[in-house]
Order: sequence, then C-alpha cells, then structure tokens
Amino acid sequence: MEKRSCLFCNDDLKGRSDKRFCTDQCRASYNNQNRAESEKVIQQVNQVLRRNRTILKTLNPAGMSVIRKEFLEERHFNFKYFTSLFKTKEGNEYWFCYDMGYMYLDEDKVRIVGHQKYMKG
Ligand SMILES: [Zn+2]
Repeated sequence: MEKRSCLFCNDDLKGRSDKRFCTDQCRASYNNQNRAESEKVIQQVNQVLRRNRTILKTLNPAGMSVIRKEFLEERHFNFKYFTSLFKTKEGNEYWFCYDMGYMYLDEDKVRIVGHQKYMKG
C-alpha cells in the first residue's frame, strides 16, 4: 500500500485514500498558507502595474506624448505587465496599465496616451 502523508505537517496519513490532511487544523493551516502566498503574488503584480502607471502618467503630463523607450526602461518600467491590450482598426496596439497606455512607434519610441483621449479618437 502506498504511504501517504499530510500535506501540511507531513505526518503519515491513515484511513481513507482521498484524505490529504491528518487533522482539520492541518487543513486550515494549509489553506491559510496558500491564501497568504497567492495574496503575495497579487500584491507584487499590483505593485508593478501601479508603478508602470505612475511612470506613464509622469512622462505624459499633457495627455499624449512621444518619448524614447529608454526613458521607461530607466525608470524600471516593466513591459511584461499590463492590464489590457487595445487594438485599433489600423492595427496599432496600445498596452494599458489601468488608464494609461503606450504604443510602439518604432523600436526606440513609444507614444503614451490616456485612456479617455484614446477611446474617443
Ligand atoms: Zn497534519
């Protein structure tokens, strides 16, 4: 017979083969731990998105600017994270962090837009 152990404390499990925890306490602790870990992941991503948005906002005081991509990189903008992707009829792609978005004009330049302005245009 296969030896199984509690997912939380690693004690040997006896009884039903679908049992995963030795006690209700272990089950609760395990679930709490998992919840805390997913909260941490969510918080980390939120932090990145928030910083991205702040960077875009700071570099875009007038509502629409064209800047060099390196300005974003210097400020540790994280290009991997965004909240939505908007494609125009012309095939342009705007990457948004909440209400602030950007679009690649070429390899070095991006155009930053506020969501409101962009939606109307
Ligand atoms: Zn246990």
